[in-house]
Amino acid sequence: MRQRLCRMCGNWHDTEAWPAECYKQRSESRSAFPVPHFVCDTQDELQSQADGKWYTSKSAMRASYKAENNPHGVNFTEVGNEDLTRFTLPPKLDRKANRDAVERAISAVESGSIPPVHTTDSFPL
Ligand SMILES: [Zn+2]
Repeated sequence: MRQRLCRMCGNWHDTEAWPAECYKQRSESRSAFPVPHFVCDTQDELQSQADGKWYTSKSAMRASYKAENNPHGVNFTEVGNEDLTRFTLPPKLDRKANRDAVERAISAVESGSIPPVHTTDSFPL
């Protein structure tokens, strides 16, 4: 029979029959934080810069950033504190110009033209 000094009650107990009341009680939480981390959907009332309406729901406000839900018809990206007065629409793609450029490049390669190889000597870092 082997005994050890109990740190809980200060008495000696048999190691094979340790009293249940002298086991260290673990709390349910494993961290010092009182609750797990969660992000709440509610917020103080904020005005969406996409449609000008006021929202208390983060998800509803983020839905207004989608093109189909705002009067601008533009997908907005939620970022930091950028100055929105400088916002400009992205340039429109000129599909015909792109297609023509690709066709010119294909015909140039097919006719034997080899484009120059660019190295870091021609474009120093
Ligand atoms: Zn004890």
